[in-house]
Amino acid sequence: MKRKDITGQKFGRLTVMRYEGAAKNGNATWLCQCDCGQRTVVDGYRLRKGATTSCGCYRREVMREAIRKNPKTAAKIGQKNQFAATEGVNLNATLTVRSTNQSGVTGVSFDQQSGKWNARLFFKGQLVLNRTYCSFGEAVTARQHAERQYLMPLLKRVQTPEAMSLMELLEA
Ligand SMILES: [Zn+2]
Repeated sequence: MKRKDITGQKFGRLTVMRYEGAAKNGNATWLCQCDCGQRTVVDGYRLRKGATTSCGCYRREVMREAIRKNPKTAAKIGQKNQFAATEGVNLNATLTVRSTNQSGVTGVSFDQQSGKWNARLFFKGQLVLNRTYCSFGEAVTARQHAERQYLMPLLKRVQTPEAMSLMELLEA
């Protein structure tokens, strides 16, 4: 199937930077720059359908707004410590970008020595993902894949409002 070049096009908050390769399902994936400054790799089909319109920041904003309007939700999400201790996994720390991380993507960092991108994921005290990639996009995809593989089953079991919203973020 011939791929339509959508480089430079804008979908919602995302501007397409370059073709990133084919996904397992055969769909083209594209590295996109989000208006908020983050970069993300997105399935071209989801982009064109309007299913993905940001790096996830839009959903986070909507969530924040929902919490602001409904203090009950806030109270539930406020029980962070309880949630953080879920099955020994600190999900907040796992999914929050550290200010020292220059890539803008959690778990993806640039290794000066090798000149490559490193993708990592700690899960229950173990490094379940620790690989280097030539391109930023590949590292991001690997990290996202690992998040879905390891965190999703856990979030599905937890079923708290915060787990639900994190699941949405992972699915975005
Ligand atoms: Zn964004």
